[in-house]
Amino acid sequence: MNSIRLLSPNLINKIAAGEVVERPASIIKELVENSIDAKAKHISIKVEKGGINLIEVADDGVGMNTQDAKLAFIQHATSKIYSDKDLKNIFTLGFRGEALASISSIASIKLHTKTTTDDPVLILIENEQILTKAGPGRNRGTSIIVQDVFSKIPARKKFLKSDNVEFKHILSTFLKLALINNKIGFKLYNNNKSIYDLQPREELEQRILDIYPNLKDKLINISYSDKSMKLSGFIGHPSMNRKDKQQQYIFVNSRPINDIAISQAIKTGYGTNLMHNQHPVYLIALEIDPEKIDVNIHPRKNEIRFDDTQQIFRTIFNSVRIALEKRLSSELKERFKVNDKESLIPSTVVTNDTKATIQERSLKKLSYLNKKTELSIPSPNILTKDKGIGFTKALLNQTQEIFDKAQIAPLFTKALQVFNTYIITEIKNQVYIVDQHAADERINYEKTKSRFQKHKTLPSQRLLIPEQIQIEKVDYASLLENKSMLFKLGFEFDLKSNHLILNSIPEMIISKKPTDYFQEILISLGEYGKIIDKEENKLINKMIATIACHSSIRAGQELEDFQIRTLLTNLLECKQPYSCPHGRPVIWVLTKDELEKNFKRKT
Ligand code: ADP
Ligand code: MG
Repeated sequence: MNSIRLLSPNLINKIAAGEVVERPASIIKELVENSIDAKAKHISIKVEKGGINLIEVADDGVGMNTQDAKLAFIQHATSKIYSDKDLKNIFTLGFRGEALASISSIASIKLHTKTTTDDPVLILIENEQILTKAGPGRNRGTSIIVQDVFSKIPARKKFLKSDNVEFKHILSTFLKLALINNKIGFKLYNNNKSIYDLQPREELEQRILDIYPNLKDKLINISYSDKSMKLSGFIGHPSMNRKDKQQQYIFVNSRPINDIAISQAIKTGYGTNLMHNQHPVYLIALEIDPEKIDVNIHPRKNEIRFDDTQQIFRTIFNSVRIALEKRLSSELKERFKVNDKESLIPSTVVTNDTKATIQERSLKKLSYLNKKTELSIPSPNILTKDKGIGFTKALLNQTQEIFDKAQIAPLFTKALQVFNTYIITEIKNQVYIVDQHAADERINYEKTKSRFQKHKTLPSQRLLIPEQIQIEKVDYASLLENKSMLFKLGFEFDLKSNHLILNSIPEMIISKKPTDYFQEILISLGEYGKIIDKEENKLINKMIATIACHSSIRAGQELEDFQIRTLLTNLLECKQPYSCPHGRPVIWVLTKDELEKNFKRKT
């Protein structure tokens, strides 16, 4: 065996470099973070060949004097922490004092710097020696040029991807840094071509829009603070949801991080506004007392350990949910608002009241109608036990006469059903295309849910002929366990070993074949298994979504005019009108602008 020897400092640096410098993008991250720590107001980054040939980062920060500039290349030389007490209160981005040392061990590096008071200095590294020269004149600040990345470790160089892939990593690093440091101006050049020229911006929102102009009017502000943390940032309108997870940014104390719990909290906050395979757009910035987090767990510092993950999860989830609900409902109300010029209310109904009160009255009447109208024509296999309320059922059984009697002012006179599936209506320079099933599902879901929350039970209807449904062994136990919960929801059954006899179903269900939806109920039970307190809500919501689906107008069903109008009005009252409880979209908006562009009336 070889005898034990101490590693040379240069070798130690090379090993450490493996941790810090994974690829050119990591060099840029370290250099730009140093510039930010040096209070730069402008940072310019130039790269060539995906950063493998050249990386140059220039700033107008505080600069270094000759002594500091030399020290900067020595491992664990840092101006940012002095004692282990400081480790607990890290406010700067870098603190290990190993970036410059590591970079110099794997690539050639040159530094040119000047403070306000000292002469400019140039530092070169040749044969592992730090050489100092008087530098050419320059303004205050620091420029660092890195060339031939990994040329000193050919084994690592092999792992680098193509220039393009490396540049993509650089771009992603650049965007994270530029987004959260909106007050700093950033420039990025690739192979001498200007890619970004971002002016310093007072507001984060402006910087986001500089980078993603398509998010204009689509950013929803998030803000929350208590004594332990401050949450700020923006989430994207659900119409901006994407198929990929790009445009998702999380920062903790201005550090970009990846955190599964936070991403999950945001996603959960979107709830049914997110379809399967869709990902929201967001930039969330958390400020937490440095004592309450550990940034030291990841060498590249892109993961963080929190003292109280649960609380952070809850706060983020709630902030996202509330902000989204508020925005979506006010947006819809705003759009549906009828202004004087384009009044849809016939003049005969207009009294001295303002338009708003007429609208309110009509809305009230509509909901009154929905609440009071009882089922008049039972479906063939159904006998009503409780005189409950099936929202859609009531609607489908209403006659024009009842509608006329209630003297409802038609809010949506221009509404057209196409393919017996979609409703097209015009509101304020916009064409709304509404999926009638998804819309009704959303309406029924919200109404059923709020009724269940209020009464803790749903009305049920007895089946004229009880239905026999085969069940698998695996379902038996969960059905037995959840029998009372299902009973509260309106399902009443006798459970046998391999089948059940279904006697009653929720009153609002209009589907004719219980076997269809009972299968869905079984699947949901299977998914959640044994219900623990916390999960119960989720399961019940899922059950209610299933019930709502089977209580709703189907695609392909022809609707009367008044039914169309009632549907649209009820949709307007929903908290989350944009998506059905399964996450499918409800409304598709086509602007007048888009139409005009398509017909080349406008460019
Ligand atoms: P760390 O950032 O962890 O302290 P680095 O190796 O990145 O370690 O930098 C070492 C030191 O060099 C820093 O602590 C700082 O004092 C100095 N330094 C590096 N880059 C700059 C810069 N752009 N402007 C001013 N000082 C810098
Ligand atoms: Mg650093």
